[in-house]
Amino acid sequence: MTTTACACVDSSSKGQRIRFVLIVCFLSLFVDTAESQLVEPKRNPPLQTQNVLLVTIDGLRWQEVFGGVDATLMEKEAGGVKDLPALKERFQRETALESREALMPFFWNSIAGQGMIFGDPEQESKAVVTNGLNFSYPGYSEILCGFADPTIDSNAKKNNANMTVLERIKHKPGFENSVAAFCSWDVFPFIINRSRSGIPVNAGWEPLATDLSLNIAGTDAEAALRTLDEVSTEFPRYFPEVRYDYVTFRGAEEYLRAKRPRLMYVSLGETDDWAHAGRYDLYLDAAFRSDDYIRRLWLQMQSMPQYRDCTTLILTTDHGRGDDRIDWKSHGEKIENSEYIWMAVMGPDTPHTIITGTTVTQSQIAATVAACLGFDYSTDEPQAAPPLPVLP
Ligand SMILES: [Zn+2]
Repeated sequence: MTTTACACVDSSSKGQRIRFVLIVCFLSLFVDTAESQLVEPKRNPPLQTQNVLLVTIDGLRWQEVFGGVDATLMEKEAGGVKDLPALKERFQRETALESREALMPFFWNSIAGQGMIFGDPEQESKAVVTNGLNFSYPGYSEILCGFADPTIDSNAKKNNANMTVLERIKHKPGFENSVAAFCSWDVFPFIINRSRSGIPVNAGWEPLATDLSLNIAGTDAEAALRTLDEVSTEFPRYFPEVRYDYVTFRGAEEYLRAKRPRLMYVSLGETDDWAHAGRYDLYLDAAFRSDDYIRRLWLQMQSMPQYRDCTTLILTTDHGRGDDRIDWKSHGEKIENSEYIWMAVMGPDTPHTIITGTTVTQSQIAATVAACLGFDYSTDEPQAAPPLPVLP
């Protein structure tokens, strides 16, 4: 701009011309500075995060996350355990710290070592659900919208009247085709309001390769997911509303490689269903596999230039569960202590900190997702809770 403006000056006197050129250059310099101030990020230094991966593990208790296996459930009657010696070998250790590491090695070796963990009672830290109902749809809506909505009081397949942070971000410049969700539970197209938001949401037992909203026709992802769909249709549908998490994970992984979304939500569900079924062994196995799927997604991202060192991982659950030999299977308004959950954040802008003596809420996740991507969620959603203290 400066060069062109100066070159256009036509003056009869050389002295006048030089003076005019200097004035124009000086003014244009001023204008340039003013313009660049308008687009300058508010943060100094600016955030490094360019992408967010949000993952939830349905109904995984803080008791196992922080304490490893619960010895009182490691048996046939309370825990429905089929092969106790094998289960003990997989996850029971001398100490709680060793057991939790055996159960969730990526969580404890990588995330806890580099990021922030919320909700550990040993650190006098609490993470709580605020919707008062402690079951899934109200919990996911609280996570994704940033507030508890008292009109959401069932898991019925009704479209969410509220906008999620996924939908808000989708409307930001540069994010139009860069938000996607892969979910094991078939209620998510309603929680995220797929029909209104236009966000690709692949959920439940929906096939992946032929999902037109994913726009993967002709890619390697389509070929890989076609094979997966074929296998998936042969599986027994043990949970009619929840597909196996492996399928959800593989869908997310292939989509990541093919379409590189900047905001991806992955919702894993088996932990909750095995717990309701009273199978502590399969619940623990599902927790272990969930941890491994998160590790593999994270490693996949770190191998891609778009994501490497500029991606933040946010991890939580929709509700807790009861804490005795009966109530561990369940959760809800009437199940004591099922409002207590856990959260974790790891990324280039999140300093490693041991969180002590802090209470955070499920409703803070939405604003945290937005804040990591550089947006102030309160301007979009004034009733939302503030972000977690994970950014400098
Ligand atoms: Zn449940």
